[in-house]
Amino acid sequence: METKKLNVIRLIDTHCHLASVEFEMDLVEIIEKSFKLGIAIISSSIEKDEWDTNLEISRKYDSVFASSGLNPEKWVESNSAIKWIREHSDELVAIGEVGLDHYRIRDHKERELQKTAFVDMIGLSKELNLPIQVHSRSAGRAALHVLEEENASLVHMHAFDGRSSLARMASNELDYYFSIPASVVRSPQKRKLVKAVNIERLLVETDSPVLAPDRGSRNSPLNLPIVFQEIAKILQRDEDELQAIILENSFRLYSRIHS
Ligand SMILES: [Zn+2]
Repeated sequence: METKKLNVIRLIDTHCHLASVEFEMDLVEIIEKSFKLGIAIISSSIEKDEWDTNLEISRKYDSVFASSGLNPEKWVESNSAIKWIREHSDELVAIGEVGLDHYRIRDHKERELQKTAFVDMIGLSKELNLPIQVHSRSAGRAALHVLEEENASLVHMHAFDGRSSLARMASNELDYYFSIPASVVRSPQKRKLVKAVNIERLLVETDSPVLAPDRGSRNSPLNLPIVFQEIAKILQRDEDELQAIILENSFRLYSRIHS
């Protein structure tokens, strides 16, 4: 990955989904415009039929890096996901997103199966020494518990919707990273999260095409500056100083990006 042009990178959109159909029409334009703004992108694929496409995108563009995981609702596909990730691990910068979704999965037995698949993915992330991007919708506490129990390191909690006190603890005591999505402009919970997370563990993401600053419209990595400026405002920090801190955090966790 040393051929990638990183000297102009100012921020990294640490979590979005460029292989989504929503980007089919203007993917090139979005990636090029983002690059001009100094934005590199970690694109995550969570569906079987997106793994290859997502990897292809990262091969094609210097500013895009691939992460592969599995939609937490599809734990039955866990073994094929693990196989695919093992075969392509040299080209990935992370595993994910993977995790727990207690919003969509209510049945106790199904939650247990989902947890087993998550534990397997944590094991894989440790084995391959790759960061893990964690989805934890309505399952913040449960996901953190599993990660701690499994001795996960290199953890990236994305769009965390749990209590800010948990994020404070996990970022300070377990060194887990938390990325703030574009919905920070309208979500009181995300604004609390910004203040709670240890600043040395703070990342930015768009989770595009979802979680747009204005609810319902398509999100894209081009909205990353909105996320960043909102965080600077909330923390009352100088933008240049904060940008340097967040970029350094991103490179620390995603060491494959600039090694
Ligand atoms: Zn996502």
